Amino acid sequence: MNFDIIKNMSIKENLINIKSTLPEHVSLVAVSKTKPVSDLMEAYHAGQRVFGENKIQEMAEKYEEMPKDVEWHMIGHVQRNKVKYIASFVSLIHGVDNFKLLTEINKQAKKHNRVIDCLLQIKIASEDSKFGMTSKEASDIMQSEPFSELKHIKITGVMGMATFTDDEIQIKREFHFLKSTFDALKDLSTFNCKLEIISMGMSGDYQLAIACGSNMIRVGSSIFGVRNYSN
Ligand SMILES: *Cc1c(COP(=O)(O)O)cnc(C)c1O
Repeated sequence: MNFDIIKNMSIKENLINIKSTLPEHVSLVAVSKTKPVSDLMEAYHAGQRVFGENKIQEMAEKYEEMPKDVEWHMIGHVQRNKVKYIASFVSLIHGVDNFKLLTEINKQAKKHNRVIDCLLQIKIASEDSKFGMTSKEASDIMQSEPFSELKHIKITGVMGMATFTDDEIQIKREFHFLKSTFDALKDLSTFNCKLEIISMGMSGDYQLAIACGSNMIRVGSSIFGVRNYSN
């Protein structure tokens, strides 16, 4: 990817360019982690309403400052003790990878008298560093008795992150694996579980992800430019 070109384009132009290539059934999460609210507002004025953050505190701070019609997606790993800071407003939590986290989200959502939509994160990458559950763990949870008692969460899909590699064949294999996991789990629909979303694909691989069945992509640097983690 040529980031020099991206850097010289505005956030608005980047957004328009990306959106013009997306099929209608694919939704775009603008990943704004590390970026200042002024950048998010530029995207907002260009019509973007769905933003993804990977740190609870950063998301809570930006929520305070941004217009209230923004949909906030938590795309990072969630620590159980921090769910309470976003429970009143978060629209979708992408990275749910264990049952205890789900029960905590349920508990916090109940306090606010709402239902929080969640995606189960499936481990599709070969790297140990990536979080996620196996498809067997996901189906076991969805069919368990304790799960059927959670009235304040709803599982609306799955999420996965491919291995960080240039090997397109491997990435494609991992994306296909997530799609087939989704297809298998989809049949286990209950009152708190209706799988519709496949969240996969980032700046470097979202076209491939869409070709493999993704209907929600999480794009950061191709919209906002490269991230600077030093400040
Ligand atoms: C940062 C991040 C993204 C976006 O990455 P880009 O390569 O900048 O598009 C997508 N998904 C998750 C889970 C992330 O943490």
